[in-house]
Amino acid sequence: MIVDVHTHFYRADVDWGDHVREDLERCGFALEQWRFEPEDHLAAVEAADAAIVFGLRAAATGWAVPNDAVAEHVRRRPDKLVFFASPDPAQDDAMAELERCHQDLGCQGVKLGPIYQGVHPLDKRNYEIYGYCQRHGLPIMIHMATTFSSGVPLDYARPAHMDQVAVDFPELKIVLPHLGHPWEGEAIAAIRKSPNLFADVSALYYRPWQFYNSMRLLVEYGAQNKVLFGSDFPACTTADSIVGLRGVNAIPKATGLPEIPEDVIEAIIHRDALALLGIRPPCGEA
Ligand SMILES: [Zn+2]
Repeated sequence: MIVDVHTHFYRADVDWGDHVREDLERCGFALEQWRFEPEDHLAAVEAADAAIVFGLRAAATGWAVPNDAVAEHVRRRPDKLVFFASPDPAQDDAMAELERCHQDLGCQGVKLGPIYQGVHPLDKRNYEIYGYCQRHGLPIMIHMATTFSSGVPLDYARPAHMDQVAVDFPELKIVLPHLGHPWEGEAIAAIRKSPNLFADVSALYYRPWQFYNSMRLLVEYGAQNKVLFGSDFPACTTADSIVGLRGVNAIPKATGLPEIPEDVIEAIIHRDALALLGIRPPCGEA
């Protein structure tokens, strides 16, 4: 079983504010690479048995993906896609939107991004969301890693903050994307010590030296069983991410440095993230 825990859905032309376009261009990204049609998302997750998909609501940095648009997309492939909702904790209606997404749209988890939303991970507005998710068994995917987006302090994305959250909400299942890059050490320390904290390996393989070092760190700390597979589409597809992960030993093979054990790599690719996060497998008719 292959579960892609990290895929994005948005319609660039209507869901991006100027802030997003300006940040992408300033960081040297070709905007065309970040545009896609709903069918492209479906094709990109072809190699996965299940894929978690979310939008992003973050007025502070120009993201306004309607949760209804994501839920509608998920209904195209209910046999494969799992809907996570994105409430914006900076907005007064965040809790009402979360309840609506849970009770009316059937979300199975929540996506947050303090560095996009401009709300500190330990802010009481995020704590309200964590409390709701813990009570209702909804896992949280919370962006704790750097980004191209400007205007919010980098500190809001430090994985170490989620150690405190894990202490305060011990039953809440939390995923830290991208192994917390460039703070992989913090993310690994955090997931190792709290049973319900996990990380994903999405969007890392194309920085091969950093990815190799992060994977060595992970293995040396023995925290590899807390790591889930993901792609971060549209950054890459599920299939690209599998190939990229399996390619992590290109550097040690060329240099004699210690390799990442193959069984560690395969276990990450085939880990049943749905079971670990308490999500029922998608089972609708395609
Ligand atoms: Zn992402």
